Amino acid sequence: MPTYTYECKKCGNEFELVLSFRDYEAKKDRRCPACGSKNIVQTLAPFYAKTSKKS
Ligand SMILES: [Zn+2]
Repeated sequence: MPTYTYECKKCGNEFELVLSFRDYEAKKDRRCPACGSKNIVQTLAPFYAKTSKKS
């Protein structure tokens, strides 16, 4: 299953969630595992946009 990377806007914790496409689409309750905040945003995959170099 795909892994989604999230960042907590409250405490800055970055974490990954493995969600099935169905769960992802259903927007199941997701929250920061560190502080429990729901104020999280999905971040880009680490291997993407790692460099600003344009080719
Ligand atoms: Zn947090």
